[in-house]
Amino acid sequence: MSNGNKRINLFFGSNTFKGSFNSFNTIPNSSNLTEFSFIGRSNVGKSSIINAITKSNNLAKTSKTPGRTQSINIFEINKSLNLVDLPGYGFAKISKSIRLNLEILIEEYMKNRTNLTHVFVLIDSKVGLKGLDIDMFDLLSESNKSFSVIFTKIDKCSKSHLDLLDKSILSLMKSYSNLFVKTFFTSTKKLQGIIDVQKTIYQLSKQI
Ligand code: GDP
Repeated sequence: MSNGNKRINLFFGSNTFKGSFNSFNTIPNSSNLTEFSFIGRSNVGKSSIINAITKSNNLAKTSKTPGRTQSINIFEINKSLNLVDLPGYGFAKISKSIRLNLEILIEEYMKNRTNLTHVFVLIDSKVGLKGLDIDMFDLLSESNKSFSVIFTKIDKCSKSHLDLLDKSILSLMKSYSNLFVKTFFTSTKKLQGIIDVQKTIYQLSKQI
């Protein structure tokens, strides 16, 4: 591993869990460092990627604690930025009222979180792009938030399948060109693409 990568890993390895919030208003002002959030359909691999980025097993365990999967979980990195685990969407086994509450929570967060710098929308490479992902891009567009797309679990797919995904997302992103930054291809099983996400977060945090 190069020295630069080692430094990045040390940076992200220094982290603390700041709290779990199930309404937007309860997030304290003290948690307003520049912020990077992760969102996607449930089971997309969000906890695995946050673990891989932070070089920690404890953080994902924290966010998988019952009750916390439906809240906003904030992790502070190196006392200089926040990573945020947002609730997964598209989970079939929840009631209509819980789903509505989650939609409100996510929408309030995206529209009102002023320190939110960048959002990573995760898409399972095997499952591909779904209507709810496009709804998320539209919400980000309405909220004027810059974002990137992370294709997860690429170890499950062929190169030609990934090329098709890449082309289709680039074509779709013509509609969001003022906010879309880039596409990542990752596997937490094979540790692919994680360093690219870490470097992007680090660089964007320095531009603020
Ligand atoms: P979350 O619900 O979005 O937080 O997803 P998890 O991180 O809990 O992952 C959901 C499932 O996908 C688990 O069984 C993981 O082991 C699996 N998974 C996550 N990342 C990868 C990956 O890169 N490759 C493969 N093959 N499986 C993965």
